[in-house]
Amino acid sequence: MLKCYDCAEEGKDTEAVSICIVCGKGVCMDHVRELDVPLKGGGYPLPHKALKKPLPRMLCNECVDTILEDGFCV
Ligand SMILES: [Zn+2]
Ligand SMILES: [Zn+2]
Repeated sequence: MLKCYDCAEEGKDTEAVSICIVCGKGVCMDHVRELDVPLKGGGYPLPHKALKKPLPRMLCNECVDTILEDGFCV
């Protein structure tokens, strides 16, 4: 089973509940960051289709910070 990468760095051994969609590392409940991105459809790399619900994006803390710094609009 996949372990949380951030916990591993702190010397803990925690099961990952999700995987960061950006860097692909495992993250536990404490370290996962969920971004609900409302989709209007047509945006790369998404299909040209509006989704009924915002798509939850599971990311690690590091990637959220990087994306927000880059001016990614949520
Ligand atoms: Zn963790
Ligand atoms: Zn990440």
